[in-house]
Amino acid sequence: MIKKEKIVIVSNRVPYNITKSGGEIKYKKSVGGLVTALDPILSKNGGLWIGWNGHTGYDKDFQEKIRVEDKDQGSGYSLKFVNLSAKEIRDYYHGFTNRSLWPLFHGFIFQSYFNLDYWKSYRSVNNKFADSVLEEISGKELVWIQDYHLTLVPRRLRKINPDLKLLFFLHIPFPNYEIFRVLPWDKEILKGLLCCDLVGFQTLQDATNFIECCKKILAIKVNFKSKKIYLEDRVVDVKNLPISIDFKRFNDLADCKESKRYIRSIKRLGIDTKIIMSVERLDYTKGIKERLLAINRFFEKYPEYRKKVVFLQISVPSRTKIKEYITLKREIDELVGKINGRFGDELWSPVNYLYKALPQSKLAALYKISDVCLVTPLRDGMNLIAKEYVSCKAEETGVLILSKFAGAAEEMKKYSILVNPYDIEEVADSINEALNMHGNTKKMRISRLRNIVQKNDIYAWANNFLNYSKNIYTS
Ligand code: UDP
Repeated sequence: MIKKEKIVIVSNRVPYNITKSGGEIKYKKSVGGLVTALDPILSKNGGLWIGWNGHTGYDKDFQEKIRVEDKDQGSGYSLKFVNLSAKEIRDYYHGFTNRSLWPLFHGFIFQSYFNLDYWKSYRSVNNKFADSVLEEISGKELVWIQDYHLTLVPRRLRKINPDLKLLFFLHIPFPNYEIFRVLPWDKEILKGLLCCDLVGFQTLQDATNFIECCKKILAIKVNFKSKKIYLEDRVVDVKNLPISIDFKRFNDLADCKESKRYIRSIKRLGIDTKIIMSVERLDYTKGIKERLLAINRFFEKYPEYRKKVVFLQISVPSRTKIKEYITLKREIDELVGKINGRFGDELWSPVNYLYKALPQSKLAALYKISDVCLVTPLRDGMNLIAKEYVSCKAEETGVLILSKFAGAAEEMKKYSILVNPYDIEEVADSINEALNMHGNTKKMRISRLRNIVQKNDIYAWANNFLNYSKNIYTS
């Protein structure tokens, strides 16, 4: 664990939801994995987290910097806000990050939208983030930049302060050479990332793709085996380290009072059907449409399950102002209606569809009582749902059906039913296989999956990443 240097984390959003009502500003810690992992490290060592506060423009009521304290530990760290104007939110955030990089990095070339104004805004917002960092540092700090929103931040930081220790972690996939080079600004993104000392990825495939792009696009010397990239004056380390979840928290959440009460309320409704569940943000990368087609095929091919199985699809509203997401929402609504109209009757609907976010205590309860979890993204950097599902299965029941295109498959493929989410027939058959799986086989598989997640939890991820960086600075 790095102790001496102050750590600066830079991410698009700060790890707190900030709301203002009646003149009062409220800060509520978010529940994501990154916050869970880094919050204790920053609290313990002291440090700074820089990010956008999620609001439009400059608001004099938001102080530029606040201190968040852990009252029990008597420790804490600072949050610093980067303000974004309405135009920057439109071009940098909704534009370049969500409509150019997000689809392209997930391999959706034809959904990727390239626009010079978006790019210019991305560049200037990245400089704004870098300047916000530069105002706070003396040169000895360790700066850890997160994700695809901020790939150009390292360049400005390195230029102005060559001795900084710079780390980067990409939470989404890194595409292969043929896809990446479609980006008109491919060289700039690579050069930005190469200003770091260490660049981390979710999977070995992502790390290899990045090294290959550096080799082919920038014509520089690389070593695939040692995962090193040789610049004229420095060496950049590349590492694959899959992000994870707080296993214990989910394990306990599935058994907490609130979740038990929720399970009782579901049971009181007299639902004795088997439950297949899926949950994610409503995003075209998650394969929701393809999954619904597989559910349609499943009830068509295996009519014996009608009235005996219910498919619970929870879709969390996401990026609701972007055209592609509005269209997708309509298509999903229609598909759900078609399947329910085709197979349902007065008292049973095959698809139970929720379009909202649930608190994790409820999610944990649903994970606990579901017989099957269908995690079938068309492409996903990691997918935490797969890890959360098995963590809530202390009773060692249930089956995970997992897309081979999710980053999580690298660790979890052996003990889940691995599918190609585009193959509707295969997914339909895999549901039948899961529902018929022998109890002992289910127990063995879930128990192995739980061990994998427990061993490589979110704390191991953050410590491994920081320890690795410590080695490169002392060697
Ligand atoms: N999540 C939640 N409530 C919901 C649906 C999802 O809190 O109703 C959380 C879920 O527990 C998980 C995260 O959202 O921690 C989704 O992470 P993942 O990596 O699977 O997908 P992402 O949204 O980051 O692409």
